[in-house]
Amino acid sequence: MHEFAFARKICRIAEETAQKYNAQRITKIYLEIGELTLIIPDLLKKSFEMATTGTMAEGAELDIKMTPGKIKCRDCGKISDVEITEEAQLTGLQLFQCRNCQSKNTEVIEGKKVNIKNLKIQEA
Ligand SMILES: [Zn+2]
Repeated sequence: MHEFAFARKICRIAEETAQKYNAQRITKIYLEIGELTLIIPDLLKKSFEMATTGTMAEGAELDIKMTPGKIKCRDCGKISDVEITEEAQLTGLQLFQCRNCQSKNTEVIEGKKVNIKNLKIQEA
């Protein structure tokens, strides 16, 4: 399960950060998720609940903001926004077309990452 791997990673990073501040508990995590990660927020929340059981992030709320994907065309150099099509969701295949010249010779420059923007903690 794709989301579970991300949930565990988020939990680990959040814990490491919270420990630096001598936190006792993590109460909320603000995330920015690139649309091209194909993460489904509801599944991530469920996975997160499982992944954090027994950790200091147990019961923490997730605040999820989705950020759009961006590609750069290798032919004309223009940057375009991309959306995940239903086909891409189903197949996991991500071939994006430049909106300027219609070339498929493109690279993803944004939208494949999960960033922890902020944490709410309870200090000891
Ligand atoms: Zn182009």
